[in-house]
Amino acid sequence: MGKRILIIEDEVDLAELIASRLRSEGFVVDICGDGKSGVERCFTTEPDLVILDLMLPELDGLEVCRQIQQHRRTPVVMVTAKDDESDVLIGLGVGADDYITKPFSPRELAARVHAVLRRTGEQQAKRDVFENGDVRLDKSSRTASKQGELVHLTATEFDLALTLMTANGAVLSREQLLHQVWDYRDGSGARTVDSHVRAVRSKLGDDLIRTVHGVGYAVRTAIASTTEQSTA
Ligand code: CA
Repeated sequence: MGKRILIIEDEVDLAELIASRLRSEGFVVDICGDGKSGVERCFTTEPDLVILDLMLPELDGLEVCRQIQQHRRTPVVMVTAKDDESDVLIGLGVGADDYITKPFSPRELAARVHAVLRRTGEQQAKRDVFENGDVRLDKSSRTASKQGELVHLTATEFDLALTLMTANGAVLSREQLLHQVWDYRDGSGARTVDSHVRAVRSKLGDDLIRTVHGVGYAVRTAIASTTEQSTA
């Protein structure tokens, strides 16, 4: 199934021209002729990207962009009538991912659409992957690997490793870990933390998690691995 694009543009001929180009490239395309229905359509269909004309009846492109982004982070390519409008919009921090000035060729716009989707897709993927040395955790698939080899972790071991890894070297106490991973509010299960840390170490490597005596646990950082080897 192709990615969904919503075009919000009141010039019918232009909208159709863009739509046919994008459809020929495999996109599923929807068109709205004014800002108000464009926002509503965006809420109901949740497109992968919006092509948004700045000058629109009912609601202008700026307001449409603002309302769309409040609902859900959506890549937007803004269409402007003059070059200097783009400069103003960038200055305002409108939240569009790219700008294109009329007149443009449908081919040029399609290239921008591909580029924005690629870029925002990469950003999304990066947020879901955490790496530390040769260890990699993928939050979306909940998989762990070491030196490129998949490692089986239990659900709790995965959550523990992920919590420490997202803390990025900060030390977390056993109580904090119990609260964040196990959702306990008191410190009665401190040994549970220790036994799970041992399990994660045996699977992902002894040096991934360091013990900070009297405080808690932290993942190794670039600095820790060279200056604090003795604590391992
Ligand atoms: Ca217009």
